[in-house]
Amino acid sequence: MMPLPYGGKLINRMPDGPDLARKTEDARILPSISPLIDHVYDAEKICTGAYSPLDGFMSQEDFTHVLEKGTLSNGMPWTMPIFLAPAGKENTAVLDGARASDTIAIADVAGKPFALLTVDEKFPLPKSDVAKKIYGTTDNAHPNVSDISGMGDTCVSGRLELLGRLPHVKFEYTPQETREIFKQKGWKNVAGYQARNPPHTAHEYIQRATLERDDIDALFIQPVIGKLKKGDYRADVIMDAYEAFVSSYYRPDRTLLGSLSIAMRYAGPKAVLFYAIVRRNYGCSHYIVGRDQAGVGNYYDPYGGHRIFDEFDVGVIPLRYEETFYCRACGGMASTKLCPHGAEFHQSTSQTGIRKALAEGKPLPSEILRPEVARILRRGDVINE
Ligand SMILES: [Zn+2]
Repeated sequence: MMPLPYGGKLINRMPDGPDLARKTEDARILPSISPLIDHVYDAEKICTGAYSPLDGFMSQEDFTHVLEKGTLSNGMPWTMPIFLAPAGKENTAVLDGARASDTIAIADVAGKPFALLTVDEKFPLPKSDVAKKIYGTTDNAHPNVSDISGMGDTCVSGRLELLGRLPHVKFEYTPQETREIFKQKGWKNVAGYQARNPPHTAHEYIQRATLERDDIDALFIQPVIGKLKKGDYRADVIMDAYEAFVSSYYRPDRTLLGSLSIAMRYAGPKAVLFYAIVRRNYGCSHYIVGRDQAGVGNYYDPYGGHRIFDEFDVGVIPLRYEETFYCRACGGMASTKLCPHGAEFHQSTSQTGIRKALAEGKPLPSEILRPEVARILRRGDVINE
């Protein structure tokens, strides 16, 4: 069954009609802050309901609960803090001047106000606590930890309202839109698939196994393409590759491709649970968790993301998959769950290997990459600098 949004109802902080016109007009003369792109995307997602039940940036009480207990202050499981801590002199001056219940504008990266924040409270950002308790390390080599270092020292909480959608690469639906699409297509049980790379055969194997289940009506593939790491594939490349792949190999009446423009959180299991909650808001009843989802380096237990669903119930059924690979002895894709052969028979589908072959102009075997995807990865200028 399509689950209710997390917390029971979909948050909608998108004024329309004369109300929107008036607020847009007001925004032009309000003090304005320009946060990092991470926070810009978060603000939009809060307003569209993707982060339901949040209707604004977290209060200190919620923030502290997330860090200490992995829940909101009302006890609902929630593992990633959603906060606003803009850096820079001009932003700090606006925050210093803001009192509770004042309204300030939030500008997108082009400097245009796209959201309003009604200030609730201000509190210090405990940077090393967030790094340690959420990401498990204070090492600046970790991409999210390094991002936190560059944020401001003060968080500002408060409810948000969206004045207009941000520009996106393609297929960026709101939860309201995907829920409508699922309903129209008659899909009750939809499995959410998280991606942050162009698809290779190991991803495909898991997606196909999911589509073969008789308790699944459809697959919603939703790559996270907000801010990626330096050296990752570019957002448009990931979406183009997925579009070519999905349209070539999957039934349109059982698959939907959408993007999720938010900053990638490499927090291992905590990020997995957060991503599952977000997919529930988009209407997914199930959520696919492979090996080492949302991992980076060797910071997290690769199967911690499987186990976190035993600890926290967020109303989404996890579909857990082990490591998958091409096995020459099996003569096809397999996983550690069924293949009896040694590693010498396994062809890894690691992105590092794919990237190396691309850089050296070597062929990419179809055991690893579909030709439609390989074509897009070969078009040059595919990496996020
Ligand atoms: Zn085998």
